[in-house]
Order: sequence, then structure tokens, then C-alpha cells
Amino acid sequence: MRSTADIRRANAFDVVRALHGTADASRREIAQATGLSNATITNICNLLLTAGVVTESRREKAATGRPTTRLTLNPTHGRFLGVDIAETYVHVETLNLALDCLSSTDLEIDYHRRRPRQIVERVTEAIQREAEANRSLPLLGVGVSAPGQVDQVGGTSVFAPNWGWRNVPLLDLLTKALDAPMRLDNPLKSLVLAQLWTQPLRATQDFVVVNLGTGVGLGAAIDGHVLRGRTNSAGEWGHTVIVADGRQCRCGSRGCIEAYVGASGIMQTLREVAPNSPVLHADDQTLTMRALAQALERGDPAALATAERTAHFLGIGLASVINMLNPEVVVLAGWVTQLLGERLLDMARPHIARHALAVSMMAASFEIEHPRNNSVSVGAAATALEAYLEAVMATDESASAKDPSNTPAPSNALSG
Ligand SMILES: [Zn+2]
Repeated sequence: MRSTADIRRANAFDVVRALHGTADASRREIAQATGLSNATITNICNLLLTAGVVTESRREKAATGRPTTRLTLNPTHGRFLGVDIAETYVHVETLNLALDCLSSTDLEIDYHRRRPRQIVERVTEAIQREAEANRSLPLLGVGVSAPGQVDQVGGTSVFAPNWGWRNVPLLDLLTKALDAPMRLDNPLKSLVLAQLWTQPLRATQDFVVVNLGTGVGLGAAIDGHVLRGRTNSAGEWGHTVIVADGRQCRCGSRGCIEAYVGASGIMQTLREVAPNSPVLHADDQTLTMRALAQALERGDPAALATAERTAHFLGIGLASVINMLNPEVVVLAGWVTQLLGERLLDMARPHIARHALAVSMMAASFEIEHPRNNSVSVGAAATALEAYLEAVMATDESASAKDPSNTPAPSNALSG
């Protein structure tokens, strides 16, 4: 059951989301956009004004009565860092309260230097470069996305199969280098948060983001809440068995969806269809997927057969998602989607329709994500923004409850 604090937090998120993507808004317009009562809007806006999150931008002269104050997100209040740690790179973005990207840093991660200390060193270097880049803005929080299963509460990388990591206290190691509030999540949850915070309708929809890349998985939001499960592992759809005793998967099991629709699975299919295809670039997934996309454009038979087989597995997998979660929207995301997503989705549609239940299928629409910038970084920054807003809202709870155990106001914002 949701507590009063949960509801207040959700209301504050709705108010800030209403101010995203608009230059400014009156309290009345915010009330219309969120469906919240005037009293609630007044209370939340007062707190956000006191904290400096929003400012009064201008007053409109009304024909009768008092002039209307318009509110805007304060562009100089502070910044967040969104950190996308992937298997081969780290990408750090600086974002403002509106989650607009101000600058970014990219560093490669050497696959042979993947011990926790080595990766933390690399990630710290990227974070510190970004922290230096916009020193005039106070740093309000850092959101970190790390691959594999993560324990959000403990800040631990529980299992990162590609690096062979188990129970690495990632946030503890990172906060040694930068004293700022930090939150940890994984890319699937970050993709969902990016949708929730940057797409106007998403907070009211049940939706799924399917990530197609080297790894395959999904994130889901039900009623505006990220589906996490008991151990934050919900969404490991890529490791659902689709072929009994099928291909070996890197998770240790056999026949997983990822082994057929992940980048290396698609490469294996191409190898089976045409072992000598010039489209194949041994050990280079990116080059192969790019070449495959071009070969599909020119109607290459081996490329078409590979895409057809991949789409068959993808369609069956997506039908299971439709049957299990009954989503309104399925968003395909990830770097393989950017290259092959349109074609794969077209080819997968008949398979989805064949295997999904009719009523659920009728309710679902499919979209390809066209990100403006790195969605994982945007989602990671959104977790930091949420943490910051929670702290702002908690100041009022502590004041009204007069309870010394309540969380104090966020006082550890860094001035660069
Ligand atoms: Zn697997």
C-alpha cells in the first residue's frame, strides 16, 4: 500500500514533469496537466520555490482580479550527472533540472581491464571530467547505471556476467572519489525512467521498453511505477528459454531469447545461414550489425533469411511479453534496434499476432525509440533527480511532523 509520503513524492514528480518541455506554466495549468487539486499544487509549488527548484518567471496581468504568476524550472539551480557504464565504454552526461544535456564525456573500457578496481578508476575519471566541466552549477546528484543485476538499495553490482563480477560494492567505491549523493540502477530500469521523465504520456501508461543490443532485456512500468521485483531483477526477459535445450547462452542456461536476438545470436544465425557471407565481421558485433542493415537494404538473400529467423524468435518473445504484462505500448530500444529495429519489427509483427492473445494484442502498440541522446544516461540522471526531489519533499514532512529522525534537507550539494 502506498503511504502518504509516497503519494506526495509522486505528486511532486508530476508537477516537475508538467514543467518539463514547457517554458513556464501557471499553477492553474499545472493543476490541469496533473489532475491534482489547487491546494496540493500550491503546497508543492511553495516547497519547490523555497528549495529553489522553480522560480517565478513573470506575472500576467489578468483582466480582472490578481495577476497570475508563472513558474519555470530554475536553470541555474543545479545539475545532475547521468552515468552509463557499459561493457566497452563509460558515457557521462551533465543534465539540468529539465533533463536537457549540457555536455558529455566518453571513455572506452578495455575488455581486458575489467576488474572492479580498474573499471572504477575509468568511471571515476569520466565522472570527474564531467564534474569539472560545469563548475558554476551546483552538483545535486549522480545517477549511475551499471550492467547486469544491481541492488539499488545497497548500491551493489550483484552479478555482471560479462565482467565476472559478483557483489561488488560499486557505489561505495565511486563515492570515495566524488562526494555527492549517488544512486545505482541498471540500464533496463534507466531506459524506463528516461521514458517516464521525457515522454509526456508515459506516466499514465502501462508500458515496456525492450532493449536489443549485445544483451537483451526489458524494463516495465505499471501505473507510472518501475517494475522491480523482489531483488530489482524483474525484466530479465532475455534469459527466458525460447528453445528447449537450444543454443548456449552466456548466462549459463540454454535456449534463451538473448542467444537468438542479441547481437551475437544474430551473428550466429548469419553464420548458420551463410558461413562465408561478406556481411560477417568475425568478433566485431557492431560492424556486422551495420553491414547486415546495409545488406537488408539491398535485398541480400542471406541477410533477409537471417532477419526472418531473428524476427521469428523476437515475435514469439514479444507475444509472451504481451500475454504476461498486457502493456499499452512496447518501445524497442538499444543499439541493435537503431540499426535493424524497423525491419525486424515489421517482420516480427505476424509472429506476434499469431502467438499473442487477441484482446491483449489489440491493446498494444509498438514504437521504435529515436533517442535525442543517450537514454540510459538520461534515465540514470532521472533517478538522481527523483532522489533530490524526495529530499526536498522530506523537508516539509520533517517540519510538519517535528520528528528529528526524518531526513534533513539536501545540504550536501556541491558547488562544482
Ligand atoms: Zn541466458
